[in-house]
Amino acid sequence: MSGRKSGLERSRSVVVIAGEDRNDRESLKILLEEQQPGLRGGIVQIRDPVRLHKATGANLSKRVRTIVNKAQGVAEKQGEGTRVACLYVHEDLDGVDGNVYLETRQRVEQEIRRQLGCGHYVLAVAEMEAWMLLFPDALSAVVKAWKVPAKYRGKDTGRFQDPKRILMREVSGTKGRRYTESDAPEVFRAVIDGGYHRSPLGSNRSWSHFYQDVELCGRQHLHG
Ligand SMILES: [Zn+2]
Repeated sequence: MSGRKSGLERSRSVVVIAGEDRNDRESLKILLEEQQPGLRGGIVQIRDPVRLHKATGANLSKRVRTIVNKAQGVAEKQGEGTRVACLYVHEDLDGVDGNVYLETRQRVEQEIRRQLGCGHYVLAVAEMEAWMLLFPDALSAVVKAWKVPAKYRGKDTGRFQDPKRILMREVSGTKGRRYTESDAPEVFRAVIDGGYHRSPLGSNRSWSHFYQDVELCGRQHLHG
């Protein structure tokens, strides 16, 4: 062993996650830890509301500033001089994949990077539940009776209008336990534990973008 320390250990820094609610943040944390094992313990969350996807101009700048300030404040609480290595901000678009998704993602991410120098805007289409539909086996691993109907398998899940409703009404719900939002971290844990994230069934650009973000982050922000 060389004993070489990671960038995080060298400079005392943390990765900060902001998101719409606790389930979203926990889910993101599970996925991040798998992709960047060096981050374990180096991730902190902030509970500020995230309402960026419809914001523009000065309004967007102000809302991003609030999140960036809070992220820097929470880093400082980890010990004097601790800096924000990177910031992940999750939000659901609540709309399907298309130009609005691409434009919104770019607009908000540019503002985050303008203010912080790094950062990722994890905008899910239409919402994070669409990611779960890429992993029918993980859903069945959480609750055996949960089954993704054939018509939703192998599809672009970013085009589904209401993935949460699909999970609640069609994947679960006919008998036994019904999917609720608080199940999200358990589902993503099952995705990771089963190794399903390596071979999604179908596609979702917001899922792919998230993984590209994490990869770029590892190269440029955390160990750059
Ligand atoms: Zn990053």
